[in-house]
Amino acid sequence: MSNGPIGVRNGGVRLTQFAFECRSLGNPCEWALRTPTREEIVERIRVHARCAHNLPDLPADVARRVDAAIHIA
Ligand SMILES: [Zn+2]
Repeated sequence: MSNGPIGVRNGGVRLTQFAFECRSLGNPCEWALRTPTREEIVERIRVHARCAHNLPDLPADVARRVDAAIHIA
């Protein structure tokens, strides 16, 4: 990552958030979320995929598309 330090100040500075929309994978699904860390968003996407889309494990190609679809909010 070459974004420099993120989320290290909290003196009124807007913190970086990671955002994801399920429909960006082509799913007819309105689920979307934002989290402060990339680890957290990946974890929550895995849970959603398992519960909502019957994907107990993300196949490698899907995981790559998830990775590409996560963006900075
Ligand atoms: Zn979904």
